[in-house]
Amino acid sequence: MNKVIGIDIGGTMIKGGIVEEKIIKTRIIQPLAKKQPMESLDSVIKKLLRAGYEQIKCIGIATAGRVDSDDGVVLYASPNIPNWSSLQLSKILRKRYDIPCYVINDAKAAALAEAKIRNVSNLVLLTIGTGLGGGIIVNGEILQGFKWEAGEIGHTILHPNGRQCNCGKKGCAEQYISMKVLHRYAKERDRHRLIERFHQNDLQIVSAVERLVKDLVILTDKLFLTIDPEFVVIGGGFCELGSNVLEIIRKHLEPYASKSLYSPSQVDLSTLGNDAGIIGAAMYAESRISGG
Ligand code: BGC
Ligand code: ZN
Repeated sequence: MNKVIGIDIGGTMIKGGIVEEKIIKTRIIQPLAKKQPMESLDSVIKKLLRAGYEQIKCIGIATAGRVDSDDGVVLYASPNIPNWSSLQLSKILRKRYDIPCYVINDAKAAALAEAKIRNVSNLVLLTIGTGLGGGIIVNGEILQGFKWEAGEIGHTILHPNGRQCNCGKKGCAEQYISMKVLHRYAKERDRHRLIERFHQNDLQIVSAVERLVKDLVILTDKLFLTIDPEFVVIGGGFCELGSNVLEIIRKHLEPYASKSLYSPSQVDLSTLGNDAGIIGAAMYAESRISGG
C-alpha cells in the first residue's frame, strides 16, 4: 500500500501525517516557528520519516500563500508567515530527503480533499483559521489562475478603507473573517473555552459569531453567484464550532439566497475538519506522482 506524507503549514500550527488511502496514520502537530518555518517543517518531516521511511512514496506540502505548484515554489506567503517567500521548496526538500515533493496552497489542498470525499466536481472551500483562504474546484479541476492567485479570497476588499491588513491593503476580508477576529469580538482568548461557551449559548460569544457571520455571508453570496458551486464548504478552526454555527450561517444567508437560485443548504461544514489540509496535500502529491 502507498504511504504519502501530507503536511499543512498554517499561520499558527504545522500539522503532518502519514496518509494511506485518505486516512491519517501517524499524526504530528506543533506550533509553527514563525521566524524559522523551514526548521519546523524539517522537524515534522524527520519525525514522520522515522515512523515509516521505507514505504514513503512522496511528500505533499500544503502551505498558506501563493504557490507555483508546477515548480513547487512558494512565491509569497505573507502576511501570516513572514520568512516564507521566493522559496524553491520542492527542490530543497527533494535534495534533502531524496523523495519527490509537491507543494500546493493550503486552502486549495483542503478543497481537493473535500471535493473527493463528497464526490462533487464544483466546490468552493473557505478555510477560516489564522487567515482566510479559498480553494475553488471547477469541473473537477483546482483553479490555479494566471499568477497562482485564484482563491485568495481573504485579501479581496470587503470594507473599503477598513481595517489594516498585514498584506498592506485596508479592509481585506481576512480582517473581518478569521479565528483571530472571532477571539477579539468575543473577548475570549482561549479556543476551548470559546467553543464551550458557544455551545452553552453564551450571549457574548453568540453575538461575536453573528457579527463575523454577517460578513461571511456577503462573501459566500458572491462565491455562489461567481462560481455557482454545488457546495461552499467552511473549513479551518472555525468549523469546530459545529452544527450551531452552520445554522447561523444558513439563517443569515437566507435573505440573499432567496433572491437567487442557490440554497443556504449548499453551505456546509468541512467533513474532514482540520485534517483536510494534510489529506489534500497527500492526495495532491499522489496525483502528481502518478502523472495527474
Ligand atoms: C493567505 C492564503 C491562505 C490563507 C489561509 C491567507 O492569508 O493569503 O494563501 O490560504 O491565509 O491560510
Ligand atoms: Zn490583505
